[in-house]
Amino acid sequence: MILPSLLSDSYGRIIRDLRVSLTDRCNFRCLYCLPETEEAANFYRSRFHPVRNPLPATHKLPEWMPRSELLTFEEIERLVRLAAGLGVRKIRLTGGEPLLRQGIESLIEKLTRIPGISDLAMTTNGFLFAQKARALKSAGLHRISFSMDSLDPANFKKMTGRAGLDEVLAGISLAQELGLNPVKVNAVVIRGLNDHEIEDLAEFARERNLSFRFIEFMPLDSSRSWLKEMVVPSAEILMRLRSKFDLRQVAASNPSETARRWSFPGGRGEIGIIAPVTEPFCGHCNRIRLTADGKIRTCLFSVSEHDLKGALRGGASDSDLVDQLRSIVWQKEDRHHIGEAEFKTPSRSMSCIGG
Ligand code: SAM
Ligand code: SF4
Repeated sequence: MILPSLLSDSYGRIIRDLRVSLTDRCNFRCLYCLPETEEAANFYRSRFHPVRNPLPATHKLPEWMPRSELLTFEEIERLVRLAAGLGVRKIRLTGGEPLLRQGIESLIEKLTRIPGISDLAMTTNGFLFAQKARALKSAGLHRISFSMDSLDPANFKKMTGRAGLDEVLAGISLAQELGLNPVKVNAVVIRGLNDHEIEDLAEFARERNLSFRFIEFMPLDSSRSWLKEMVVPSAEILMRLRSKFDLRQVAASNPSETARRWSFPGGRGEIGIIAPVTEPFCGHCNRIRLTADGKIRTCLFSVSEHDLKGALRGGASDSDLVDQLRSIVWQKEDRHHIGEAEFKTPSRSMSCIGG
């Protein structure tokens, strides 16, 4: 039975997890998210369809949102407090690059004090983490996920558009020293780009006792270059890892977990595979997203968004906002349609939505 005080959709899913994007800006230019150059944007197409469909020479980075459009920390805190009152328990701060948001530690402090919020995590590219780590930890951050797609400095630069591997590695070590455990590391796997590193990345997870997540490439890049040929299916990743490591499947701690997980013998480190393309987990999705400019997205692949900033800034009461949240969540999509004829690419890319 669904309790009336919870945020539920029309399929009976209860929302427990709110991802909050703090900015659309980023200091990296990952090929699969926010490619900077014509060459980067075209990398995939030129690889798989050399002549047929290069992108036109009009590739542009999305324009950053004006700062006045970004929700203030007070506005974010208010919405999180209301969501917590409706049963949301987990908050993940993301972006763009969340560490570019000035004074982020003061937001973390506010959010950890909200009754009901039991898990406050962040996803970062890690480049600025070492500079801010102690302040984040003392503000109360519980957990952190880094994104690191390659252990090879040249390939890292090719994938992220920046020479930042050393900084990210230093950030990962520091997070472990500070006890932000389990430290997670995510890699988007792209055929022909970093799939030759799958085993090395898993070995890195084992050596460093990390939770490593391999993520299938999704059609959310700003250049709209995604092609199914570039997705390395979860089954292939697993087969390769199994042929090198004696992996044991780890039972899911809850049905909404996005990753299927395996541990290494000896219990050090763990790998997980997130397979939204080949093995979608929409039926158990308990997530919604709040964009940096105050829109709720009920699915990564939503084609429409629901504005809350207008209501926040227009004097809406808490009970008006709660009613709006409930009615928005009720409309959550049953599933995404990647790979189907009716699939529509969302108008905003991952860096604007908040991954
Ligand atoms: N900048 C931070 C970072 O990279 O960790 C946080 C935002 S980023 C959009 C969040 C996550 O989305 C990262 O782990 C990134 O690898 C992932 N991501 C971005 N574009 C993606 C895509 N097209 N397919 C799959 N994952 C993607
Ligand atoms: Fe920036 Fe993260 Fe997107 Fe890379 S994945 S461009 S680090 S927002």
